[in-house]
Amino acid sequence: MADTKSREERSTNMAAIRSKDTKPEVYLRKLLFSNGYRYRKYSKSIYGHPDLWLKKYNTAVFVNGCFWHRHKGCKYSYMPKSREDYWEKKFESNMARDEKTKEMLAKDQHKCLVVWECTINNAKRYKEEEGLLLERIIRFLNSDEEYNEF
Ligand SMILES: [Zn+2]
Repeated sequence: MADTKSREERSTNMAAIRSKDTKPEVYLRKLLFSNGYRYRKYSKSIYGHPDLWLKKYNTAVFVNGCFWHRHKGCKYSYMPKSREDYWEKKFESNMARDEKTKEMLAKDQHKCLVVWECTINNAKRYKEEEGLLLERIIRFLNSDEEYNEF
């Protein structure tokens, strides 16, 4: 098959694929690990291969980049100024995939937590925010809630 994609398209395709071991992910892992929480990374047996799988809490955790996953109302979720049609499609397919993952996890009766990149950046910057983030995660893990994001 001829490769008709532009360099730009190709590199954005690559970037849209969930990249592993991103900085926010590594940060969240360290935060949880140092507080005694144990997990698997990218578990192959769980739909969507979540960034973290906490078996004990039956919970999949995704660290979502605000731009790629379109964090609603977030300043990092801006629309690029050129080639809007292209981006529109790209974002729609990313969001559809996230929605599907959420549904499949619910169907499999797993809990699902999304932690946005901007929340993590705040936690990294301010100690109090870090404490609050950890608290919210622990509260979710121990709740009956199926899904949450913050
Ligand atoms: Zn955000």
